[in-house]
Amino acid sequence: MTTAVQKAPRIPGDEAPQIARQLFDLKVSASPLPSERDQNFLLQTERGEQFVLKIANAEENKDFLDLQNQLIRFLSASKVNLEFPRIVSSTSGQDISTVKTDSGEHFVRLLTWLEGIPFAEVQAREWKLLSSLGTALAETDLALAGFSHPSAHRFFYWDLRRAGLARDLVGLLPPHRRALVERFFAEWEKIDWTSLRFSVIHNDANDYNVLVGGDGPRRNYVSAILDYGDVVHTATVCNLAIALAYVMLGTSNPIGAAVPVIAAYQETFPLTEAEVAALYTLAVTRLCCSVCFAAKQTRAAPDNEYLNISNAPAWSLLEQLQEIPFEQPRNLFRLVCGFPRAKNQPTRSRTSSELLAARRQNLGPSLSISYESPLHIVSGERQFLVDASGRRYLDCVNNVAHVGHSHPYVVTAATEQMRKLNTNTRYLHELLIEYSERLIATLPDELSVVHLVNSGSEANELALRMARAHSGGDNCIVVDCSYHGNTNAMIDLSPYKFEGPGGRGCPSWVQKVPMPDVYRGSHQGKDAGSQYAAYVGIAAKQTKNLAAFFCESALSCGGQIILPADYLREAYAAVRAAGGICVADEVQTGFGRAGSHFWMFETQGVVPDIVTLGKPIGNGHPLGAVITTREIAASFANGMEYFNTFGGNPVSCAVGLAVLDVIRDEELQRNALEVGAYLKEGLIRLHSSHSLIGDVRGQGLFLGLELVRDRQTLAPAAREAAWLVEEMKNRGVLLSTDGPLHNVIKIKPPIVFSRLDADVLISNLSSSLNDLAAAGN
Ligand code: PMP
Repeated sequence: MTTAVQKAPRIPGDEAPQIARQLFDLKVSASPLPSERDQNFLLQTERGEQFVLKIANAEENKDFLDLQNQLIRFLSASKVNLEFPRIVSSTSGQDISTVKTDSGEHFVRLLTWLEGIPFAEVQAREWKLLSSLGTALAETDLALAGFSHPSAHRFFYWDLRRAGLARDLVGLLPPHRRALVERFFAEWEKIDWTSLRFSVIHNDANDYNVLVGGDGPRRNYVSAILDYGDVVHTATVCNLAIALAYVMLGTSNPIGAAVPVIAAYQETFPLTEAEVAALYTLAVTRLCCSVCFAAKQTRAAPDNEYLNISNAPAWSLLEQLQEIPFEQPRNLFRLVCGFPRAKNQPTRSRTSSELLAARRQNLGPSLSISYESPLHIVSGERQFLVDASGRRYLDCVNNVAHVGHSHPYVVTAATEQMRKLNTNTRYLHELLIEYSERLIATLPDELSVVHLVNSGSEANELALRMARAHSGGDNCIVVDCSYHGNTNAMIDLSPYKFEGPGGRGCPSWVQKVPMPDVYRGSHQGKDAGSQYAAYVGIAAKQTKNLAAFFCESALSCGGQIILPADYLREAYAAVRAAGGICVADEVQTGFGRAGSHFWMFETQGVVPDIVTLGKPIGNGHPLGAVITTREIAASFANGMEYFNTFGGNPVSCAVGLAVLDVIRDEELQRNALEVGAYLKEGLIRLHSSHSLIGDVRGQGLFLGLELVRDRQTLAPAAREAAWLVEEMKNRGVLLSTDGPLHNVIKIKPPIVFSRLDADVLISNLSSSLNDLAAAGN
């Protein structure tokens, strides 16, 4: 977009007459006209004839100019009751000619000039003028429903379907205005584009492109809609929405001004219910796109005055509209179009504090909620979450939304399969088999049998049953502070729970070994892995009837701890020697987060006997998996059927497959490697400037910061960690704490996290830590 503006032709005014003479044999005087991407001149002959000389951007492709010419001819020949320019051919008979200038080679076209007053300059906008605009747009859209051209199917940043591109620029807006725009973009995100009609549209009926007749029969009626440079194939209703955005500008009653336009449109070319529902949002989205693109373009081309034209009025209109609840114009537009008031409207929308009170009333008090002032999140996109006020937060902690919140490919896979079929695994189904094959293909050869379940807890629960069935033992070894799930057996197997509040202590069938923590634990240095593995060896020897050793491939609840080299290799050898099964809990760590490897256990150079999967596997859809060897699966099949009503249903398989596709197609493992390394470097820089940071650790996008009050004594800075998480939330960045001492900041964002996000995280951490230090902590 910026380059297009930068590549606008810059032909000196005195060259325009030469071009006119050379190509069209016209003797003219020339004056410049405003344009964003092209360069236009008004030409006037001595006899008073007027033309527009259009010199296209060097990036413009000829097919697209051909589309514009064809479209003008198509509409001129149609029943649309407007004036259209005539295309003037060059003396050599070309509709599109070429000139070479200092700014490159440019295509040139000549159109006849149309008289009229720009809509923007008409002060008294009577009902009949606004109605004539509605009719003009409707006639144009109706006619264009029968027009097609391959160049109209293009990816264009002014297409309202692509408003996400503008939304990405919100950070360039003045800080006090960002929330306002975000709130509107959050509404845009809810539009169901599949419910709308599509066609080629003009796409830019702005108040300078709409002409009003100055005299004659068209006096005070719309006489022409100019400039076909933004034509695109998109949702038809966008054409009307864009016009409405400009109709609403500069009036004290913007919604009222829109009504006659919509009513007249509806009479000629009735809108569908879905189009009416999207209309207001799309109109406001256009304003938001304008201010966002202007913020970017004024940076790139500060001297292009055209870019600023609609900026100030757009801001005041947005500020005016933010006072109006969305439902108001939506309902009014429905009534204008003859639809009854919207169905299924919530009788009231509750405030966040009302929701909190109702939650306390209706839900179990053992459920916790994050932050002193809880967040009321209503939508998510990629690595961002949006709250009810429209504020967007950078999500650095939700590892479940692995490929990004609400990834459209995953959402589509789920909804399409849900529409088709959802049953259990007692029928043959292609997706169940395909998904199992795809999962197995990511794992070492030995791990070749899949059981699908619905959560990480269920996966570990099943792994325990399998280990017991195969080993004939009952007892287990676990790592201190670990968490493996919420079921009875998993609580017994999770020191994080059984030793925490409400816990009943370590059960007799469980043996704990210390966390292999090289920062705070008793072993450091290159032999630490072997030294920690020795505890597993001792426990394995001491435990009678050993069934399994459960260990995460990097410790999550333990405080984002990366296992030291050799740890799993030696621990596994000791467990196997005692007849036990080695279970790798990859619930938090799998699916490319490690960056260097798809599975975190691979970084230890081992092959577990059972791997359990959860969280990121379904990007938020409840899904889990247990993958094991053929021998263990055979021991488990002892005659008792394993049935799981939901596990392995076709919708879950479709989701699981979609997640694997996205990781592969968007190269997210590589992203985790590169962005993870970049972010870790930034964190290490913070470590050198902030003494509160005792340790920076992690791998890929599984990272942690351990906060200490004293780097010698390692006194844990838990209060500071809690403050930092709150402060970062206030700054729009979501993090949380972990570790037995609650002093580790965990960082495990969706793995679509970018370098820019890493910069945002680091700079906010840095200034928050400065504030903390200044406050005397
Ligand atoms: N294992 C690990 C390592 C986990 O972190 C969790 C969840 N935090 C589980 C298992 C349990 O997964 P779920 O909540 O999906 O049952």
